[in-house]
Amino acid sequence: FKRITTKSSSKDELDQMANTFNNMMDLLEENYKKQEQFVSDASHELKTPLTVIESYANMLKRWGMKRPDILEEAVESIHSESIRMKTLTEQMLVLAKDDSQLDLHIQPTDINTLCIETGRSLQQAFQRTIHVKPSPHPIQVSSDEQKLKQLLYILLDNAIKYSEESIELTVSTSAENMCLITITDQGIGIPKEDLAHVYERFFRVDKARNRETGGSGLGLAIAAKIIKAHQGTIHIDSEEGKGTIVQVHLPIYFS
Ligand code: ADP
Repeated sequence: FKRITTKSSSKDELDQMANTFNNMMDLLEENYKKQEQFVSDASHELKTPLTVIESYANMLKRWGMKRPDILEEAVESIHSESIRMKTLTEQMLVLAKDDSQLDLHIQPTDINTLCIETGRSLQQAFQRTIHVKPSPHPIQVSSDEQKLKQLLYILLDNAIKYSEESIELTVSTSAENMCLITITDQGIGIPKEDLAHVYERFFRVDKARNRETGGSGLGLAIAAKIIKAHQGTIHIDSEEGKGTIVQVHLPIYFS
């Protein structure tokens, strides 16, 4: 990533060109480094489940047929690590696409119904209490329903993973006349210094803790991408040991 230098005697125009060029190179270099980091993080993340699968496959080759206890443990682990790898690759594919490739199928979506249904299915799947408070009036947003479901799933899944008490999902309208979805948990919270980084790919507050909860650090990066594609915004407030409030603003659809 070479930069242009001009002599002080050269014309203003030339200096300006050099400046523009150098700014472009800075941007390119920054993007290149980000890509490099992404590939390195992705390889590392995939290597962990692969190593587990490989070692259990080796155990099976050696003793599997004679030792039913090993057979059961190995099959169980190979199965769960394969699912982990599948989820990771699917998440990485979403992130690899640029916004125009997200292929959104936009239509007016009843946000109250979507929140009630998603809350109910996650409550059943994880056996956790999710209080859904729909807005008193129907609200529609222009959205790709599947992507919005994925967004709610990511945010509620985080609230479930990082808290033990009940979770609240509220739909309302904001002062700016936007649809406001708020997800509140009373969990472990996020340290102040980490708040700005949680949208970065593969960022996790505590990697050891996340390995246990199954988090990859890609959820909020995908959430931010979906929200941006819908011209919305996300804001997270959190206090360690107290809990987290996630606010998503989306433009309302007026027919
Ligand atoms: P992950 O799949 O690891 O949960 P995310 O991108 O969704 O990844 O979140 C990034 C990190 O932010 C998480 O690893 C976790 O440390 C932190 N985090 C996200 N949501 C919450 C929450 N509701 N409570 C506490 N920590 C959270």
